[in-house]
Amino acid sequence: MIITAVRAIPLRCACSPISDALSTCSMRQALLVKIETNSGIYGIGEAFTYGAPLPVVQYIIEKQLGPMLLNENPENIEQLWNTLYWRTIAHGRRGLILAGLSGIDIALWDLLGKAVHLPIYKLLGAVSNQVPSYASGGFYGPGKGTAELALELEGYRKKGYRNAKIKIGRNLDRTGSPLRYMANQEWSVTAEEDIIRMETAREILENGRLMVDTNASWDSYTALEFGPELIRLKVSWLEEPIPFEDLEGLQRISKELPQIPIAGCETQQGLKNFETMVRMDALDILQPDIGWAGGFTECRKIGAMGEAAGRRISLHSFGSAVHFAASLHLAASMPNTEMIESEENPNSLKTDLTTKPFEADQYMNFYVPQEDGLGIDLDWTKIEKYTILN
Ligand SMILES: [Mg+2]
Repeated sequence: MIITAVRAIPLRCACSPISDALSTCSMRQALLVKIETNSGIYGIGEAFTYGAPLPVVQYIIEKQLGPMLLNENPENIEQLWNTLYWRTIAHGRRGLILAGLSGIDIALWDLLGKAVHLPIYKLLGAVSNQVPSYASGGFYGPGKGTAELALELEGYRKKGYRNAKIKIGRNLDRTGSPLRYMANQEWSVTAEEDIIRMETAREILENGRLMVDTNASWDSYTALEFGPELIRLKVSWLEEPIPFEDLEGLQRISKELPQIPIAGCETQQGLKNFETMVRMDALDILQPDIGWAGGFTECRKIGAMGEAAGRRISLHSFGSAVHFAASLHLAASMPNTEMIESEENPNSLKTDLTTKPFEADQYMNFYVPQEDGLGIDLDWTKIEKYTILN
């Protein structure tokens, strides 16, 4: 079997505006990768793009990385991963090049699973056929106050979730707040209101776990100031509290606030960068994104490194159905998986691309798709509907 074509498929759909501490999203996007072979089998992946211009990532995949794969055997995944990594080493290693490589890697594993008739999580050595999850939501938005947040979280409880994560840190009036640089500064709240939002969530979740995410908008001093409130409200983890490069700041928080685990970083990439953060005690719970941090090939190594260091892993997942399926397979193959992020914002690219919805038990433990490869059946008419033409 040899690779005959590598295509990128840019998707986009409108959504009601949602804001985290910094950015606002009113348009969801995804970049799918399709790798075709002479055997008729194809693989699908997704490169996560964090709002980057889709034509740029499409160009990287189709014109730069894709040609290196033509006529190669898609079963040699580690070989191909290293080929793409090393031939782009001077300007790559991170950013959109590694995102493109991640999407390609996912497609290669999908292909391999289809070729040998196994779901990917079994190819990797399954731990379980189910993955615990938490509801990821609690964003800021137009007309959304504490009462609306409460309603949203009650909805997650009714759906079966016991654990949830909310956004905090959208505070324009805080000294040094990076929100002042963002295009949309609406729906900002005070630090006191953020505490009320956390109290509301704590009450609704009862004994369930509450996680909070500042999307890197604080500095270490703000994190330490909030410390007593986070402890009082039994926050299970503090996600990306400060800019990712401030390793000393993360160390300081970890040392002075040992009761609150630090989680991250969806924005980090590559095994070595995660290993540095773990070794420096800057990170307690690892949250790589499979479409960004290096695909199955790199992320399972990140998981194993974390396991050796006694760290738990909770995959970030904020993409399309392809991204969520890939995350489920990877999560179900790692013994230190704690929970997976289950995004609950309305997102047609997650709920409308497959012929069957993802299935979960009454507590929202997701079942891993059992068909070959990623195990999902894509609706190509829907994919065409969301495809944007450059
Ligand atoms: Mg996050």
